Amino acid sequence: MPQPRFRAIEGTRDYFDREGERFDRVLARAGEMFPRYGYARFRTPIFEDSELFARSLGDATDIVEKEMYTFQPGSDSLTLRPEGTAGIVRAYLQHGLDKRGGLVKLWYAGPMFRRERPQKGRQRQFHQVGVEAIGSGDPLLDAEVISLGLRFYESLGVAGVGLRLNSIGCRKPECRPRYRLILREAIQPRLGTFCRNCQARFERNVFRLLDCKVPQCRELARELPKSHENLCPECAEHFAAVRQAVEALGGSFSLDSDLVRGLDYYSRTVFEYTHESLGAQNALGGGGRYDGLAEELGGPPVPAIGFALGVERILIALEAGGACGCPPPLQAFGASRGEAARRAMAGLIARLREAGFSADLDYDDRSLKSQLRLANRRGALCCLILGEEELGRGEVIVKDMREGRGQAAASLFDCLGKVREILSC
Ligand code: AMP
Repeated sequence: MPQPRFRAIEGTRDYFDREGERFDRVLARAGEMFPRYGYARFRTPIFEDSELFARSLGDATDIVEKEMYTFQPGSDSLTLRPEGTAGIVRAYLQHGLDKRGGLVKLWYAGPMFRRERPQKGRQRQFHQVGVEAIGSGDPLLDAEVISLGLRFYESLGVAGVGLRLNSIGCRKPECRPRYRLILREAIQPRLGTFCRNCQARFERNVFRLLDCKVPQCRELARELPKSHENLCPECAEHFAAVRQAVEALGGSFSLDSDLVRGLDYYSRTVFEYTHESLGAQNALGGGGRYDGLAEELGGPPVPAIGFALGVERILIALEAGGACGCPPPLQAFGASRGEAARRAMAGLIARLREAGFSADLDYDDRSLKSQLRLANRRGALCCLILGEEELGRGEVIVKDMREGRGQAAASLFDCLGKVREILSC
């Protein structure tokens, strides 16, 4: 057999069949969900001035040092975007969105490019969906952004997402700069016991020693002074409020002082979503505050926070969770017990589809319990449940599948109203 002449470039991939469908489903879910939280879609170019990324991410970051795809047509230096935040903040300033006053909420999706060593969950062209909330320092906003990410994963059926949370403080001399000195002093006498990479990073970016993946460095990092214990009073207060608000929104997290996030623009709150299916590359997504970035790019000081979620890593987590063939997300799922109820349910589901809802039912003769589990896996927002008894009464149970919501009986003939009610809130 002759081999094809061309193959996708190392670290890039084609998406098609089931995986392609799942990919679209992640993007579609972002498009449904983020606007509900007030985010408007924003599109920036795929390449920007190289200096924009050097300024935003920092010269001493892996991305800027060695991972950027930079090209020079004529005298310009252009770079394929390695992430989305820098471009969004550039556009926010360029179009004077800061002058609109108040909070500006934007979401984006698209390919990003980093010249990393390809491996599972790490590509050179990968995709992110993300949100940026620019114009407020309110800790409630931090909590809202963090919990939006959790809800997004949940709605896609990604189970077991972990949340790491930390605060890295601000630029005031008594906050991060002071902590930097404390850290340097603590590390200096033991620098020789850290890996070579860490030794090289010590001078330029000492915080990176905290998130080194080498086991011996992780062990050493555990003994070092913690950033959240060395915050200025305002940052400490802010972080306490964030933690409280995240808990109030139902998010459980681990306070993780090793979490520094690699990029220079972060300040105060930083967080990462994790999933065990990803092994060493266990970050499913991440984000944080970047209160100083607009100013760094020549604009006014504007507090802001956002996250970026890796689409490929979501696909890996879904696969590991035994996600089925992943048909499109469902609004309603029909579960039934007994042959007559099953036939009646098929009619009901057909009516729902006619009325414009995405709806489906079990075709594999599962038990009622497994059908409900399947409804959950399929991300159904509501479930119609029909047994012989309900059928006899001319009723169907309509269950709101979101956590903590209940269920109610509705007449078989006008249960559409009940479904509409659940889907519209
Ligand atoms: P970062 O901008 O580095 O914080 O990345 C945010 C998220 O994007 C990560 O948590 C990953 O899910 C994803 N990501 C980053 N780099 C890659 C890569 N090279 N390949 C695949 N996904 C990535």
